[in-house]
Amino acid sequence: MSEWFGEGLPFRCTGCGDCCTGAPGAVWVDDDDVARLAAHLGLGPVEFEAKHLRRLAGRRSLLEHFNGDCEFWSRETRGCTVYDGRPTQCRTYPFWPHLIEASESWEGVKADCEGARLEAPLVPVSVIRAHAAEQRRSRAGC
Ligand code: SF4
Repeated sequence: MSEWFGEGLPFRCTGCGDCCTGAPGAVWVDDDDVARLAAHLGLGPVEFEAKHLRRLAGRRSLLEHFNGDCEFWSRETRGCTVYDGRPTQCRTYPFWPHLIEASESWEGVKADCEGARLEAPLVPVSVIRAHAAEQRRSRAGC
């Protein structure tokens, strides 16, 4: 199947943190995310859930600070403190199904994300598809 974006999309994460901070939002997690994050922090899944998750619209999401920053974003180091165990939602951004479905939706990504506005190497279609499929699967289990 050919995609509207041809050979791929230019993207490179700059680590700016804009997608981890700012206006309140949600970082949804599924069971695999919970298990990975809990192991990363040396906790059991139940303990992790009690300490770090909240219920939003019937789903589980990471806690955030009063200003909307994800609780795992460090303003001191300007980085994710659970990077190797971060949720699927974070690992697959910006290649979520609804963001790559049309050039118009990708223009919205570019407006929000400096890494999508760079003259970066193309992320290949196979990688984009894999990320989108992973995000779709994860979201169904959140
Ligand atoms: S878990 Fe890490 S990558 Fe995901 S939103 Fe929080 S700080 Fe950002």
